[in-house]
Amino acid sequence: MAGEKLYEGKAKIIYTTDDPAVLLTYFKDDATAFNAQKRGQIADKGKINCAISTYLFQRLESAGIATHWLETVSDREMRVKALSIIPLEVVVRNVAAGSLCRQTGLPLGQVLLPPLVEFYYKNDDMGDPLLTPDRMRVMNVATDEQIATLRRQAEQINHILTKFFASCAITLVDFKLEFGLDHQQTIVLGDEISPDTCRLWDQATEDETQRVMDKDRFRQDLGQVEQAYQRVLERVMAQSPQH
Ligand code: ADP
Ligand code: MG
Repeated sequence: MAGEKLYEGKAKIIYTTDDPAVLLTYFKDDATAFNAQKRGQIADKGKINCAISTYLFQRLESAGIATHWLETVSDREMRVKALSIIPLEVVVRNVAAGSLCRQTGLPLGQVLLPPLVEFYYKNDDMGDPLLTPDRMRVMNVATDEQIATLRRQAEQINHILTKFFASCAITLVDFKLEFGLDHQQTIVLGDEISPDTCRLWDQATEDETQRVMDKDRFRQDLGQVEQAYQRVLERVMAQSPQH
């Protein structure tokens, strides 16, 4: 089924299929942080992220969000709609953490109401810089109308995912989305939604280290990385209608 390798990224490999409108994404165990300056592996991460993404894409679809997910065909592979990816990382923040704290001095854990929606240029060589609407306009990276749609969709997705993770006793601190255009030029949610791309805090503890269930365990060498990813999967699956 898998055709030729189209692109190998930091976390996934993209293959062509016999249908030009469909791609196959293979989820790897490779982990990177700080713009790939730190590299490693997280055992079974590919399987866990494939399963979590599958579940969340299905949930978003049933809430009316257009996603690229078509079918999960193995424990590491999903068939997705081929998109022309918009080179933006759309970040939604409900709670201050990470680069927001470093760049603004806001304290870790400060609740952000309304949530922040931010756009970063998806460009590793430039270090994924934060963009402004004016910069996006002069860069021609997206039209004003597309940017408004991305913002609205990101807010809707945040609403759905925040409620869902709360039902798992997890706080959705922040997350990164990638969108693309399909053949009809419709904006569709792509890439993945996983502990690699979300900050997730366990509501069972307020301990600043213990609560971390996402890639910050790898970034900050907090240990128990695999176990944290596994625990997110278990909580997500416990909400699944199949269970
Ligand atoms: P990266 O190292 O660039 O983050 P990943 O390993 O996360 O790459 O993913 C591989 C690439 O696949 C990314 O560039 C991502 O934008 C792209 N991608 C995700 N979904 C789709 C899709 N539906 N169609 C085309 N490309 C996609
Ligand atoms: Mg990626």
